[in-house]
Amino acid sequence: MPQPPSDEKIQRMEFMLGLRRRGIIQQSVLRAMDEVPREHFVSAETVDAAYADQALPIACGQTISQPYVVAYMTEKLDVHPGHRVLEVGTGSGYQTAVLSRLAREVVTIERYRTLSDTARIRINTLGYDNVELVVGDGLNGVPERAPFDRIMVTAAAEDVPMVLIEQLVEGGMMVLPIGSHDATQVLVKLTKNKDRIAREDLLPVRFVPLLPGKAREL
Ligand code: SAH
Repeated sequence: MPQPPSDEKIQRMEFMLGLRRRGIIQQSVLRAMDEVPREHFVSAETVDAAYADQALPIACGQTISQPYVVAYMTEKLDVHPGHRVLEVGTGSGYQTAVLSRLAREVVTIERYRTLSDTARIRINTLGYDNVELVVGDGLNGVPERAPFDRIMVTAAAEDVPMVLIEQLVEGGMMVLPIGSHDATQVLVKLTKNKDRIAREDLLPVRFVPLLPGKAREL
């Protein structure tokens, strides 16, 4: 007799259905969301909620983003298989892992060494070998690895960081939350054209702040 699906399987199916229901349609993005096990990226205390559509606390007072927002930002970034992508704010490494399934290479920068080290172990364990993890201030980008085809920022900046725009190729795109830390932020998509930067406002969001400098605590 066929076995009924396990609770875990049902949770994963509901997770994918929820993303489709909320409007994620790009097959490559859905495939990446299906492939990357979110339970590997959350802390042990919250593992039961790994497939709920919510942000969760991680170490260093930071958060792993809500899965819908991860999928939405990834879809809007329009990552192609040949792309080199910069992510600012590695955090848990979950968004990094999703991007790594779509791009040729992902460079990700985080200001907390602890978070970066933990993310590295998770990403290596899953065998995702096209990721470079850097510890430092993402407000400077990663100039030695620039230019990038795409940039995603997963912490909120007060203004558009011009340094990051400089590290985009012409025609390159960047998705990032903009706004102050105690007010509503808006998710923005920027496209770098020859003589101007096109801006599209997407969604109201809530992200942890983009802070300057490498974190002093680990
Ligand atoms: N993409 C992450 C989201 C983590 S929250 C995930 O999927 O889990 C945002 C992260 O940005 C935090 O870990 C925070 O420490 C980091 N961050 C904030 N300011 C930064 C900066 N200037 N440079 C690098 N990382 C930064």
